[in-house]
Amino acid sequence: MSDSLPLPQGQWPTLEPGWVWLCGAGPGDPGLLTLHAVNALRQADVVIYDALVQEAILDWAPQAEHIYAGKRGGKPSAKQRDISLRLVDLARAGKRVLRLKGGDPFVFGRGGEEAQTLVQHNVPVRIIPGISAGIGGLAYAGIPVTHRDVNQSVTFVTGHDQSGQTPSSLDWQSIAKGSQVIVIYMGMKHVERIASELIKAGRPGDEPCAVVCAATTDKQLVLETTLATMPQDIANSQLEPPAILCVGRSVLMRQVLDWQAMTQGHAPRNLDPLGRGRPAESA
Ligand code: SAH
Repeated sequence: MSDSLPLPQGQWPTLEPGWVWLCGAGPGDPGLLTLHAVNALRQADVVIYDALVQEAILDWAPQAEHIYAGKRGGKPSAKQRDISLRLVDLARAGKRVLRLKGGDPFVFGRGGEEAQTLVQHNVPVRIIPGISAGIGGLAYAGIPVTHRDVNQSVTFVTGHDQSGQTPSSLDWQSIAKGSQVIVIYMGMKHVERIASELIKAGRPGDEPCAVVCAATTDKQLVLETTLATMPQDIANSQLEPPAILCVGRSVLMRQVLDWQAMTQGHAPRNLDPLGRGRPAESA
């Protein structure tokens, strides 16, 4: 695989010894890697990757040592500080280091912290963005993260903070009022609290919601529900993290845009889920 995909003509950066490239791997589907990620995979001596990175992606770096830095099998996750310092050590040892993270490294991925530690230790870095689960994962469920008839803004929220609690610093009133669509990362554990805070803050209990699990992978599952019923519906289901929760009427667009159903042979459904007329009929 690694040689079969030619990169387009152009100046591709060289991963020099002693550098660390912090790279997003996208939400799962290897096809959502960027070409910069592929370029990096081909050059790395070492790839340090997280739990959410699909291991198939490592096939693009057969020459590299693969180091797993996530949580698996009930073992505690490697400490953030330990990972950062390991990156420093590898860079100082003259390796070409690729730090591969799920989604985008700067979206709830602690990429900023890792990069800052590297810079503090005088290790040069390059950042390669990736497709974040809260955008690309929803797209794979047929949910547009913005839609002109639904929202002019979108809020990305994390469902728990470093302590594992619902972020107490979050102002749910403002979040509820701030944008029509709310996309919640790491929200499964505290979904009950999150849903009740949003309802308390004035979001309707019957507001459409979706839970998209293992988005873009072949294990992707989507639950369509409402804000009030979401916690119980999740509890009654087999759904497990990783999952993105989406609160807002854009979820209704899935009725038309569930393109994965089309790939499985379902005919396109020409519905008007928002009741605003179909685009061709409106200005
Ligand atoms: N940097 C990542 C987010 C890391 S935080 C990004 O930009 O996507 C981890 C959380 O991301 C998970 O708890 C889940 O909420 C979300 N996530 C990551 N990959 C996912 C996937 N394939 N499907 C659903 N949610 C995912």
